Amino acid sequence: MRFHTFLLKYGEIGIKGKNRHLFEDALVRQVRYALKDVDGEFQVYKSQARIYVDCEGEYDYDDTVEHLKKVFGLVGICPVVRMEDQGFEQLKKDVVAYMDEMYEDKNFTFKVESRRAKKSYPKNSMEISRDLGEAILYAFPEIRVDVHHPDVMVNIEVRNEIYVYSQIIPGAGGMPVGTNGRAMLLLSGGIDSPVAGYMISKRGVGIEATYFHAPPYTSERAKQKVVDLAKKVAKYSGPIKLHVVNFTDIQLYIYDQCPHDELTIIMRRYMMRIAEHFAREDGCLGLITGESIGQVASQTMQSLAATNDVCTMPVYRPLIGFDKQEIVEVSEKIDTYETSIQPFEDCCTIFVAKHPVTKPNIDVIRRSEEKLAEKIDDLMKEAIDTVEIIEVK
Ligand code: ATP
Ligand code: MG
Repeated sequence: MRFHTFLLKYGEIGIKGKNRHLFEDALVRQVRYALKDVDGEFQVYKSQARIYVDCEGEYDYDDTVEHLKKVFGLVGICPVVRMEDQGFEQLKKDVVAYMDEMYEDKNFTFKVESRRAKKSYPKNSMEISRDLGEAILYAFPEIRVDVHHPDVMVNIEVRNEIYVYSQIIPGAGGMPVGTNGRAMLLLSGGIDSPVAGYMISKRGVGIEATYFHAPPYTSERAKQKVVDLAKKVAKYSGPIKLHVVNFTDIQLYIYDQCPHDELTIIMRRYMMRIAEHFAREDGCLGLITGESIGQVASQTMQSLAATNDVCTMPVYRPLIGFDKQEIVEVSEKIDTYETSIQPFEDCCTIFVAKHPVTKPNIDVIRRSEEKLAEKIDDLMKEAIDTVEIIEVK
């Protein structure tokens, strides 16, 4: 079947009043972004509370659908056949031919639902539905009508042309990116943080990211892995401005000055401070991490409190109540899992203590950090000044 257009359905929640056009405009923008690398020419526009994608000429159907399924805010993707208006008798034939081609086996129930956007059309929507339903029934002996719970809803929209669709491919849900501000993701090479970024982005939030590496203790390949993960998340969230921070000197200094069982917590606190600096610079409204209560020593309630202590922005931790297996399932769904499990060293694992504190006391941690007074400001400034920015698309 050759489809000429996609009709994109979005949820109604949160788009009342003047929010509606912001929501729709963001959706149009995200749909255009999603299709920019797909083979084909696409016209994306809104009309009468719907969003349409017209496909001009040849295009890659499967790839188009695959990309549309990653646009947050869409709840359904309907491939449409457009038929020229050549009178109702011809329409009946065309719709019967559509049903024949779409459904090899006709042993199911159906209902026709019509919408007359072009008010000058000679039949009203009730008559269109009734007469087309009759034509379909007449053409295929096995098919049955069920007006309450049909297996297949055949939708007819009368515009300048007649739009026919009966398939709804589930969309990604959520809200269009760009309708809820921006936040800074602390992105490591692990399983959790890409999933955390995906989940916050799903609520309409644009994403930036910060990655801390520690060359030569961590390799170029570990960094490339993070860039690859950012690319996968960007398929949903749109472009990600990735800040790559050289954390080596700060880590070595902490290692020299502070008790080793507190290393991870203190390192985490400096990560949060630096990420927050970039977040503020770029107008982000919060930080995002992949933490989940109790997953490791640095994620006990006490550790999370100690990490949180240095942040003035809200820290969003969408995985906070997730078990590892649940996180893995999402990472498989969004195709980050295979990349995340590539075995490259992480800057935290290299300097990690054998027996890290699991119940850090914030006052004790603050006092330990006083031992860094001599150089830490300069080292922070150096790390911030030498940041490498990668625009991930
Ligand atoms: P992940 O799978 O996301 O790495 P994890 O289970 O390995 O998580 P931790 O290493 O304790 O957990 O990290 C907790 C959170 O801190 C991460 O989810 C991430 O948001 C942030 N983080 C950790 N290491 C880094 C890093 N090198 N660069 C940026 N953020 C980091
Ligand atoms: Mg990690």
